[in-house]
Amino acid sequence: MSKEIKLKIKSLGEKLKESKSVCLISHIHPDGDSIGSLLGFGLALRQIEGLEVKFAYVDDIPSNFSFLPGIENIKKVGRDEYFDMIITLDCSDIERLGEMKTILESADTIVNIDHHVSNLDYGDLNIVLPKASSTGEIIYKILEYLGLNVTKEIATCLYVAISTDTGSFKYESTSAYTHIVASRLLEKGIDLNKINVELYQSTSLNKANLLIKALNTLEFYENKKVAVVYISRNMLEDCKATIHDTNGIVEFIRNISTVEVACVLKEIANNEIKVGLRSKRYVDVADIAKRFNGGGHVRASGCTIFKSIEEAKHDILEEILKDIR
Ligand code: 5GP
Ligand code: MN
Repeated sequence: MSKEIKLKIKSLGEKLKESKSVCLISHIHPDGDSIGSLLGFGLALRQIEGLEVKFAYVDDIPSNFSFLPGIENIKKVGRDEYFDMIITLDCSDIERLGEMKTILESADTIVNIDHHVSNLDYGDLNIVLPKASSTGEIIYKILEYLGLNVTKEIATCLYVAISTDTGSFKYESTSAYTHIVASRLLEKGIDLNKINVELYQSTSLNKANLLIKALNTLEFYENKKVAVVYISRNMLEDCKATIHDTNGIVEFIRNISTVEVACVLKEIANNEIKVGLRSKRYVDVADIAKRFNGGGHVRASGCTIFKSIEEAKHDILEEILKDIR
């Protein structure tokens, strides 16, 4: 750990001692890393005597995370409620907090903990480690440094964060340290089979039907190096599926052997298209997403385009094709 990061974590520890209330918050469209880091860190902070810890609800949580210890603590807090400290997790810019971004205005100290290259350092204290596999991995580092006890419950949450954000330890961001952390978490006696069944082997029939429908829209470009699918609101309705059920579709098409860039277009509302991008070897999809005010990682990114599905597809494809050649 660099000296700079050590000093920042030390400063976080000192600020926590002075604080009476802290609120943890993460991004809209929650994923395993956002929810796992939020719960893992929050449960640990509850060990600090006299510190009130709240977990802010920002958006519906996919049902496959309902098994996580402490999930019942995630509750709505007022958008102008005061806290001595607000800790944002896995959140590269404050727009990712959606309507809850106003909560930052009333906090004494904002602590921004994240691993996105595109992080805007909007906090009073920014613990941003772009090389970390996941925010969960950073939280483990912080807990160890602050001497907080990693219980089996906390270990379960952090393992989920790391496992989901590394594509089960497959992505390039997976380091030797990632495996060391995973090993320490396993030593806490977490139930690996239960975690894996809940996360990866509990697909609903509605979600499976949505995958089939989405694959029917699959189109290839540039010698099958680019693959695009879309999901309209009608398709969601037909399958009685939710937007969370679109998770995993973009990875499915990325996995096709010829594909370098996979793109999914999800119709959130009329003229509001959430774009998900994945790449395999050389295309920097964070850079492509940035051109549409989005962000993320080199191999996984996203943005929103306020146009029709057809128009959004045209615009994003134009940018992908510039970079694929
Ligand atoms: P997903 O496609 O799973 O929603 O997102 C993949 C990655 O891109 C995640 O790391 C996520 O944080 C990032 N991402 C997705 N959408 C946006 C966006 O609109 N803005 C930014 N800054 N990052 C995004
Ligand atoms: Mn993450």
